Amino acid sequence: MRLEIDKKKCIKCFGCVSVCPNQALENTDDGPKWNKDKCTGCGACVNFCPVKALKLVNE
Ligand code: SF4
Ligand code: SF4
Repeated sequence: MRLEIDKKKCIKCFGCVSVCPNQALENTDDGPKWNKDKCTGCGACVNFCPVKALKLVNE
């Protein structure tokens, strides 16, 4: 599982960072940064994102 972040769509609201129950997303100047090792693929961030900038991809 991989989280794709579309940086062109992201408005840096950082709500995804707040809703992640596993602290798998972190605030950076460049937008949210994903930590694969902490992510469980729960989808909370994807569901939250107001501009649909996040996508979970099976690999
Ligand atoms: S919720 Fe969406 S728009 Fe907001 S910071 Fe996360 S990816 Fe960007
Ligand atoms: S899928 Fe769930 S665990 Fe992974 S980054 Fe998003 S909110 Fe966090």
